[in-house]
Amino acid sequence: MSLKSPSLSSNICVLAPSSVARLSGLCLLFSASLLLGMNSSQAAQAEAPTLDNQKFNACLDNLVQTGPFAGVKDTFAQYRPQQGDPSVLESLDYQPEFAKEPWDYLASLVDEERVLDGINASNQYADILARIESEYGVNRYDVLGVWGVESDFGTKLGKKDVVESLATLSCFGRRQSYFRGEYVSALKILKQGDIDKADFKGSWAGAFGQTQFMPSTFLQLAQDFDGDGRKDLVNSQADALASTANFLKNSGYQPGQPWGYEVLLPASINAKNDRKNKQPISHWRSLGLTLTDGSPLPDSLASAGLFLPSGKNGPAFLVGRNFDSFYAYNASENYALAIAHLSKQIENQDTNVEFATAWPTDDPGLSRKESREVQESLNLLGYDVGEVDGIIGDGTRRAIQKYQADNGLEPDGKAGKKIHQHLMDSSAELRQAAQQAEADETSLESESSIATGSSSSAKNAEAKSDSSGFLQNKSLMAIAISLLILLAIIIVSRRRH
Ligand code: CA
Repeated sequence: MSLKSPSLSSNICVLAPSSVARLSGLCLLFSASLLLGMNSSQAAQAEAPTLDNQKFNACLDNLVQTGPFAGVKDTFAQYRPQQGDPSVLESLDYQPEFAKEPWDYLASLVDEERVLDGINASNQYADILARIESEYGVNRYDVLGVWGVESDFGTKLGKKDVVESLATLSCFGRRQSYFRGEYVSALKILKQGDIDKADFKGSWAGAFGQTQFMPSTFLQLAQDFDGDGRKDLVNSQADALASTANFLKNSGYQPGQPWGYEVLLPASINAKNDRKNKQPISHWRSLGLTLTDGSPLPDSLASAGLFLPSGKNGPAFLVGRNFDSFYAYNASENYALAIAHLSKQIENQDTNVEFATAWPTDDPGLSRKESREVQESLNLLGYDVGEVDGIIGDGTRRAIQKYQADNGLEPDGKAGKKIHQHLMDSSAELRQAAQQAEADETSLESESSIATGSSSSAKNAEAKSDSSGFLQNKSLMAIAISLLILLAIIIVSRRRH
């Protein structure tokens, strides 16, 4: 199954490498888009296609008569969408307006927040991860790397109805035959009862669950690791993480090997970016490559290829077979590097996400915290970016562009450290005022909640005015009864005296 279109490759799965191509239709992903600001709401700023509902229904009538749907006709009928979802076609045709450099791509996917969340996850799921390591031979931190990059450790699973998305993509737009296969697979999953229909939500292209499997990949590789009889990649971390390990294992993952490591290149070397050209480590030693602290290359990898994501003057890596299995997940080298890097930082419990060799730029990418600060500043300065979500999409970039033009800067729309600093300076007073206003509001709310004798916020207190009135009456009654009892005690004790 080939999905080689350049517009697809920008944010989604392209094509599984040869080693895993035998798993037909294994284009797993379409998913990193969940975390990278290439969602349909941003794409929706282009023209919205209108779907011909008659055509959609005629297409579905026709589709269900074809061979692949033979075993799932009842499920098809049960969950047949009333209408298509035009937003998934916008995402299908989405062309990013702004090229993304590797340092921009990495900065938002591997930042301090995600490393900390990964360390927490490694503790919380230590038992499951240990069992996965022994059963599949996949390092726990590599599984965590995929989980973190795919869904931010299960916090962002996508909100599109998988059946509706795939039915739409089966009848409109490019790649219909691919999506028809996924549609059939999705119906099989529902028929098997692994995933509840209400939980069957995902990315615009139908990738779903904690580690964003496409339905066909699910049918081939999903695991029931918690032993409840269902492969529930949405609600069961054990199932999802074991399924991911199973995917990596089937993609040629080698137990006990590191994915690779960052290296230093000697200045004299004529190095080329060619990770597929694996050479014995002795070869790289003889060329003068070392670890970043200058120590000799270890024997943990027998052979490795040189990966230079930004050319000879940026960070350099020797990568082995396990890096290729990350690549198989989403067919993008930068994506594979994000998983590798996150895995390593979680393992080392190191929130400093800089590489030893800096990226060849004077304007590095932004963490999600910095991205949120950029968005907040733009909103405060009157450049509407909408929701502050820490995801730099086209909407934010256009707002940056406008801000740059208004301030005599080159209007390239680039969201890097430079514009971050510029915006922080410009919006300093406004941010301070906004913070003060927020603090005032909070203290007002707490005063009002003290006044009403309730811990609810002002808004909640308003919404609950009936019940709080009732509670107030009850409190008054309780006080009155207490006073009466006290009075009775005093009277009785006086009589005794
Ligand atoms: Ca299960």
